[in-house]
Amino acid sequence: MRRALELARLGDATPGANGIGCVIVRNGVMLAESHNECGIRHDPTAHAEMVAIRRACEALAADDLRGATLYSTLQPCGMCTMALLWAKLSRVVYGAKRGQVHEMYFEDRNLDTIDFICDAYRDDLSVTGGVLALECAGFYVPAGAPLPEAEKVNL
Ligand SMILES: [Zn+2]
Repeated sequence: MRRALELARLGDATPGANGIGCVIVRNGVMLAESHNECGIRHDPTAHAEMVAIRRACEALAADDLRGATLYSTLQPCGMCTMALLWAKLSRVVYGAKRGQVHEMYFEDRNLDTIDFICDAYRDDLSVTGGVLALECAGFYVPAGAPLPEAEKVNL
């Protein structure tokens, strides 16, 4: 998670990027790392987790990340949660929880990562949230904070 925080810091300081960091590790080996690259790639799916999953799969020339752990500084959104299920990651560890950040970071009013994972055909996937949560949450707009119109992308 410390490396994911460094990547979030880098993303925060990079034009077109965003302060969400992600790493994927398996057997103590870093498979991939990323920050959000949506503005760099002009790709709304280039969330940190999506980019890291693509990089890890490319590095392994495989589409199965069983045994790997994904670390993200923010609770994954619905898109990233579905992607990590399809990539067959075994463990997800995230920092800031949904309730700690502004709702604009998520696409659904009531569903969240835990709902998707609890309903998935994956009994071998574990999820741990709230790791270094306050430090991670520091990168994001707090829950309930007023937002400029330009930031209301999902609302
Ligand atoms: Zn996402």
